[in-house]
Amino acid sequence: KNGGTKTGVEIAFGMITDGKDVLDAVIAGVNLCELDPEDTSVGYGGLPNADGVVQLDASCMHGPKKRAGAVACIEGVRTPSLVAQKVLSDTDHHLIVGRDAQRFARNMGFTIEDDLNTERSRAAWLEWKRRTDPARYLDPVKREAALRRVEREMMDEGWVDPNHFYGTINCNGINDKGEICGVTTTGGLAWKIPGRVGDSPIIGAGTWADNVVAVSCTGQGEFFIRANAAAEISARIRHAGASLQAACDAVLADIAKLGGDELSATDPLLLSG
Ligand code: ASP
Repeated sequence: KNGGTKTGVEIAFGMITDGKDVLDAVIAGVNLCELDPEDTSVGYGGLPNADGVVQLDASCMHGPKKRAGAVACIEGVRTPSLVAQKVLSDTDHHLIVGRDAQRFARNMGFTIEDDLNTERSRAAWLEWKRRTDPARYLDPVKREAALRRVEREMMDEGWVDPNHFYGTINCNGINDKGEICGVTTTGGLAWKIPGRVGDSPIIGAGTWADNVVAVSCTGQGEFFIRANAAAEISARIRHAGASLQAACDAVLADIAKLGGDELSATDPLLLSG
């Protein structure tokens, strides 16, 4: 609630029932979390990358308009979901990345800040840095094992909130006309290699919204990219007549075959009929 009285879902729901555009509503919902300094998974105070820099990914899709927009690896903007919406509404592109995403945001009137770390996110990063040696780029298997061990230790010791380590925020909405929109916003994986882009800004992988279903994913994004997870769930429902449950189960089974585990999850919203 970020010190207020409503959750992001309550804000989005209220706007939808007031007749506001569904995408405006779900983005207003996630903005609450992006701006919350205590939420270490997204936006301001999101856990930084291996160099201590907060780099954010976000995307959105407007079902009825059949439009999408996304930014990846953007620094210095607390609400990347709003920049993704600008890509959707003001350009004929889908994805703008890195420094140019920041420049685009500046040109669109967003405030750019030097650093989105809070005391809390910086302290957690310094502690992680002390416990690992990411600069050596261990072989992928050893690096993964070392990272998992340190992550668990730091969660157990209270440095990192387990609910916010893999804490991408998704908000999908539908109004009384059956219009569906979705937004996904994230700081990505904590301590990721600088420049790494996850599934969240990849339309079809971490986000999808059409006139039947909206899907957002959270967990280790590389699996969702390899499974093209969000679009695949929609395709199974639209083309094969699968139920939402069956479609999600099938895609999660694909992800398990790729090596994913219980930390990978999806957050679907289905319009049936
Ligand atoms: N899927 C996000 C990513 O890989 C992380 C998350 O869901 O927490 O960037």
